[in-house]
Amino acid sequence: MYKYLFGPVPSRRLGVSLGVDLVTHKICTLDCAYCECGTTTDLTIERKEYVPYKDVIDELEHYLSTHPAPDYITFSGSGEPTLNSRIGDVIEYIKRSKALVAVLTNGTLLGQKAVSDALLKADLVIPSLDAASLSAFEKINRPHKDISLNGYIQGLVNFRSVYKGKMALEILILPGFNDSKADLQLLKQACYKINPDVIQLNTLDRPGTIPGLTPATRSSLEEIQRFLQADPDSQVFSNKKSNINNEPDHNPQSEFKNMRSLSQANYISDKKLTPTIPVEITASAPKTAKIKSYREENENSIIETIMETVHRRPCTPEDLASILGLHISQINNYLSTLKQNEQVISVAQERGIFYHSLKK
Ligand code: SF4
Repeated sequence: MYKYLFGPVPSRRLGVSLGVDLVTHKICTLDCAYCECGTTTDLTIERKEYVPYKDVIDELEHYLSTHPAPDYITFSGSGEPTLNSRIGDVIEYIKRSKALVAVLTNGTLLGQKAVSDALLKADLVIPSLDAASLSAFEKINRPHKDISLNGYIQGLVNFRSVYKGKMALEILILPGFNDSKADLQLLKQACYKINPDVIQLNTLDRPGTIPGLTPATRSSLEEIQRFLQADPDSQVFSNKKSNINNEPDHNPQSEFKNMRSLSQANYISDKKLTPTIPVEITASAPKTAKIKSYREENENSIIETIMETVHRRPCTPEDLASILGLHISQINNYLSTLKQNEQVISVAQERGIFYHSLKK
């Protein structure tokens, strides 16, 4: 069983993706309300070798010499991967094997030259930005005290200006947290300043860290998609009946105060903004071709894959059936045994019954 590699899993954006986890659970610069990995237990901005470089390389070497190549090798997992000070070295190693590299990051450290330089060799970088107003940022992302919103956004802008690969900016919409018109207007300005290749709109798919969170509806996401894709210089919603939250979730005074402070930081400019950026709504995990050839089909490896997967993020039996290419009844049998052995627990959510690992 690998300690730092997981999957491969069929990803909504990356095809068949082998995950690499460069931090242990749960180390991050943010403590997002919606985080599917659970509450951040080590909220930090300190970069160091959280997991040993050599051990990660040994696992990658073994995997790549014994399995078919995945579509992407993806840095994600139990926290923020750029906190690992050796991420650039691991990317370089993978690139020598010619595999494609994707980095899922919250992007908060991209303002640091060492982090930006490390990610330049990746083929695809998917940073997230859920808010451009201080109040929404603090409410949804609950950042480390030394992360400034202006510095975070400027770091994304600077990285885009030097990065030659593909950049997809992910925005997770959480009703009541970042979907007011004031928030979305500021977010749109930030997006066009950053100028990613594509904006990917997402919403809650799995249980978050706060009970009772609800996902955005499809119609709200489509309205936000239209708004973000509309004339970049237009910062207003149409007057038609709207699904979007008209009321700010927070004090409008602070929105304008924040807008002024962004402007003072030369972040909002009066000049013509860039052409329209495409906006995709990312759907739930695709029904992909079966990938069981990536794992030996014996019972132990199936159980290992289930445990590796639900340890990193809660999954429904349907998710696991798709990942493993097995029938749902087989997955349910494994889950029922794991539950009896107190290795997993189940939680009912809107999208179905999610299984979490009880492994520490
Ligand atoms: S969603 Fe990502 S950035 Fe937010 S707390 Fe979880 S791991 Fe960190």
